[in-house]
Amino acid sequence: MSTTNIVEPTVWIGCLLCYNAGRLVGHWYGITEACEVDVATVHRGSGVRWRAEGCEELWCLDLDGLPVHHEMSPADAAAWGEVYEQVGEQWPAVAAWVPGGDYVAEGDGELPALGEFEDRYRGCWE
Ligand SMILES: [Zn+2]
Repeated sequence: MSTTNIVEPTVWIGCLLCYNAGRLVGHWYGITEACEVDVATVHRGSGVRWRAEGCEELWCLDLDGLPVHHEMSPADAAAWGEVYEQVGEQWPAVAAWVPGGDYVAEGDGELPALGEFEDRYRGCWE
């Protein structure tokens, strides 16, 4: 049994309209919170009058602790959050499997196929 510390991945969710106007408006959130983040939350503390500005589209502009390294929608981040929650303490193994190059993705997407992971995983060894 591994005693690896499991750290929840985080995403920096920001406002695209503000970003395109040269303002970095957003915050870091735990990946499992990504589905709950809304336009008002992202603008908290920014001083931007987001309703008047017409802000509406959010985007994950940075991420930390995920096995993929590209911007994504908050909905895609939330899907990763579901994987993270589903695999529990096997997260480090799943996260290592993905960039290894021969992992199996779910459907046409990039999320790991957890059934395939279970078939292949042989535990954590010294
Ligand atoms: Zn905005």
